[in-house]
Amino acid sequence: MPETSEAQFDAIVIGAGFAGMYQLHLLRDKLGLKVRVLEQGSGVGGTWYWNRYPGARCDTESHAYCYTFSESLYCSWDWSERYPEQPEIMRYLNFAADQLDLKKDIQFDTRVSGASWDEDVRCWRIMTENHGEYTARFLITAVGCLSAANIPNFKGLDSFKGQWIHTGSWPQDGVDFSGKRVGLIGTGSTGVQATPVIAKEADHLTVFQRTPNYSVPARNAPLTEDFKRSVHKNFEEIARNMKATTNGHPWGVENRRAVETSADEQERLLEAAWQVGGMQFRAVFNDIMVDEAANKVMADFVTRKIRETVKDPITAEKLTAFDHHYSTKRPIIDSHYFETYNRENVSLVDVKEAPIEEITPRGLRTSDGTEYDLDIIVFATGYDGVTGPLTRLNLIGRDGLSLGDVWQEGPKTYLGLQVEGFPNLFTITGPQSPSVLTNMPVAIEQHAEWIANAITHIDQIGASCMEPTSTAVNEWETQVQKAAQATLLITAKSSWYLGANVPGKPRVFLPYAGGMARYRDICEDVVEQNYKGFKVA
Ligand code: NAP
Repeated sequence: MPETSEAQFDAIVIGAGFAGMYQLHLLRDKLGLKVRVLEQGSGVGGTWYWNRYPGARCDTESHAYCYTFSESLYCSWDWSERYPEQPEIMRYLNFAADQLDLKKDIQFDTRVSGASWDEDVRCWRIMTENHGEYTARFLITAVGCLSAANIPNFKGLDSFKGQWIHTGSWPQDGVDFSGKRVGLIGTGSTGVQATPVIAKEADHLTVFQRTPNYSVPARNAPLTEDFKRSVHKNFEEIARNMKATTNGHPWGVENRRAVETSADEQERLLEAAWQVGGMQFRAVFNDIMVDEAANKVMADFVTRKIRETVKDPITAEKLTAFDHHYSTKRPIIDSHYFETYNRENVSLVDVKEAPIEEITPRGLRTSDGTEYDLDIIVFATGYDGVTGPLTRLNLIGRDGLSLGDVWQEGPKTYLGLQVEGFPNLFTITGPQSPSVLTNMPVAIEQHAEWIANAITHIDQIGASCMEPTSTAVNEWETQVQKAAQATLLITAKSSWYLGANVPGKPRVFLPYAGGMARYRDICEDVVEQNYKGFKVA
């Protein structure tokens, strides 16, 4: 690749995780386009390349956290555990990249610094920090929903004499916690995964919790040879189920209402589901996301379980002072998270009561004046989710409009796939699509395939550009907000689904909550109606 001169492609894809890899395969191998993937990291993996923190593991069961577009690819890989750990996901993605011979068209160590639409020649000009400029008719973002770190602007952070790390940019050669006093800020999915593992290694771990979260045991375990054989044998059924369910998992939600179930039966069903563990715990009843009384059944059960597990009643109280309904923030599953608070070397600090006021050279100080001496501070403080990875790309559409400006009051898209004024820009798992509310590989495959079909359509009719109409964008926005309003998701005021974790971010529900199956039908219907809502010029 030329270092400074312009390089021309049919399509540039940004990001080489699950999404960018599959998009490359489709556009290059099925459509015969000249494609280049630009990737900031030195290898494939996307989110999983950067998230190497202790305990990093996927919450989706491994046989469903993989590509399902190819039976031979699916059946040529064996997972070792119920939930795949970060290194195993990296091995899987490298295996897939090698099987599909993708790496030769991925330019690693290349950070995109901006891209702008050139109306005269109808193409995107993509700038990189270190590898010159590219042009492409189509620009496809495959940057993930959780890749723009949220690092709170704590006073004094620069003065800290120890080491501080955000979990989303974990050092490639790891962090040695032995003999160290570690502070961990944040108790979302990441903090909950990292806590038990760091606690085992560190001299002392202090967890700084602002908002407690419900969590259910994952019950991870090695997979048996029988299970491995059975998922290969039942590939078609598993893939079909993943496409048919609301959440993109191979299991559906039971057709049973909590409010119509006797208390004894509720208890029996929930106890059984608790023992099985995992995300399926949510699937015992079908009314928990729409009915507060049903939701309370779940919330009360989980609260009781946590209180039974955590021996110190004050700690247990802090861990269960929930500010939201069960599962209305991203549900969490864990491996011995609550048990970890029974260890002598672990303490919990409530930073809602007394917020972190300042990072000091020796640690941190909370607003009640307490000083915590720390050698390492782990920021498990999450992400500027869904929109952040896109607005940080510095995308400039027609008439010099920046994406950040267009989305100042919240994202405006059609189907989460395209933005008006940004022709030929496609956003895989973009805002206002099901994305983070589903099993991501399912959402990714559906988007990548839809985009490949749209590009085929553009070429077949001899058009050069595609973008949505403002009517379609406005109508989709109404549908997205309606879908969220129909659930209790909208009541979780501190959720990153609403942008609440990033100061100044508009409070707008970001993903489409109508379910993956319904969304797939909507997208197919749009195509059947000759790309209704899109201008193909
Ligand atoms: P997160 O869910 O947004 O959690 C961030 C945590 O940091 C929250 O507890 C938050 O408190 C806290 N925090 C933020 N700013 C703070 C401040 N100024 N002072 C004190 N606390 C602060 O982020 P995450 O845990 O990285 O997870 C993000 C998403 O990534 C997950 O929801 C999930 O979708 C995905 N993920 C998945 C897996 C998996 O599959 N296993 C693992 C990790 C992450 P508040 O709640 O009060 O804002």
